[in-house]
Amino acid sequence: MTSTTDNHTAFVRAQGVLPGGVSSPVRAYGSVGGDPRFIASARGAYVTDVAGREYVDLVCSWGPALLGHAHPEVVAAVQDAAARGLSFGAPTLGEVALGEEIRRRVPAVERVRLVSTGTEATMTAIRLARGVTGRDLVVKFAGCYHGHVDALLAEAGSGVATLALPGSAGVTEASAAETLVLPYNDLGAVERAFAERGSEIAAVITEASPANMGVVPPTEGFNEGLRRITARHGALLVLDEVLTGFRVGPGGWWGLENSVLRSQGAEGFTPDLFTFGKVVGGGMPVAALGGPAAIMDRLAPLGPVYQAGTLSGNPVAVAAGLTTLRLADAAVYARVDEVASVLSSAVGEALDAAGVAHRVQRAGSLFSVFFGELAASAGVRDYAQAQAQESFRYRAFFHAMLDAGVNLPPSVFEAWFVSAAHDDGAVEQIVEAFPAAARAAAA
Ligand code: PLP
Repeated sequence: MTSTTDNHTAFVRAQGVLPGGVSSPVRAYGSVGGDPRFIASARGAYVTDVAGREYVDLVCSWGPALLGHAHPEVVAAVQDAAARGLSFGAPTLGEVALGEEIRRRVPAVERVRLVSTGTEATMTAIRLARGVTGRDLVVKFAGCYHGHVDALLAEAGSGVATLALPGSAGVTEASAAETLVLPYNDLGAVERAFAERGSEIAAVITEASPANMGVVPPTEGFNEGLRRITARHGALLVLDEVLTGFRVGPGGWWGLENSVLRSQGAEGFTPDLFTFGKVVGGGMPVAALGGPAAIMDRLAPLGPVYQAGTLSGNPVAVAAGLTTLRLADAAVYARVDEVASVLSSAVGEALDAAGVAHRVQRAGSLFSVFFGELAASAGVRDYAQAQAQESFRYRAFFHAMLDAGVNLPPSVFEAWFVSAAHDDGAVEQIVEAFPAAARAAAA
């Protein structure tokens, strides 16, 4: 028997024990206001809150639910693995199979280290880059989010952007001083930073296609340019595919970008390290770091760069990730692309009809809306432009959608996530909700 409560009562109770009532900041509805929906269950394209109300979901666990929630084969794999033991603290063949599946999809990855969160993956990538190069500085881009690693929180996207924080209290000045924050999509700024301090820079880390300041794809040649500059100066390029990896295509953003480059007769580009998360765990805590053996084998136990985890490669979590990747075939990617295409066009049309200046930006199946004349006229290429949008309009838009039974990310700085379980009925429900939400945003 399930007992129901209302979301407000749940939120009040939660605030008595969890800071802000949540276990991760963006869940708190800080920028949109109101009571977060406490979710009791989810299936396919839908989530159901503790009051028993169902919503079409465009959060999809912030990315992992590529196949939709509680896919029966993924759930069966998890149940089967759990019945054989929850955690052994010893190697398993499931980890090997997941590593091989990642390598099959991204052949530049020769070795994989499994971790539990995207944050651990980027933190380890930075440590490894420092260990390999013997240098201290890291370059990141404003508006990119790489998890809550001390060195990477400066001008970060996602919840840091939602809360309008410049960084985080508790990060030492020494740590902040080791991070150079540059404007996104500005290769000139990267050239200048390397001209000044190139011999001190261990790595450039970038979201493969940023989606934590809203969706801001790289301009043509940006990622390749980073590859060229880092290679010239002996720094590593870390491509963070925690969000894009295995979501925008079988080989992530790197796979998509390289197939376009190769179709144009260009060579393509390969970073030194990749970080993966979200889809790779299929909704369970799995993330990964991958790259060539020459770099990855510098990790312990083979090399001097230490990294470890009691629950790393957890057998139940790995079963969810492996089954998700095995099920994520061409038809899945075609469906998420189609859903993204229909929804991104429909939201644009509804906002146009309501006279709301905006720009919908898309990267593969990821998309988001930027509000205001500035975004509408020139598009958004970096964090300063993303911040300059009329973000206040999102609050009314978000709540109108929620009232119509559509669960959007509770922040204008987040991508909208779709799944292969979003069937025509789910898509129709979302599309029908757009006109009223667009009128609310106009007010
Ligand atoms: N990198 C990117 C691009 C992300 O979007 C995220 C999370 O949203 C992370 C890293 C951190 O992953 P996690 O939340 O699993 O620590």
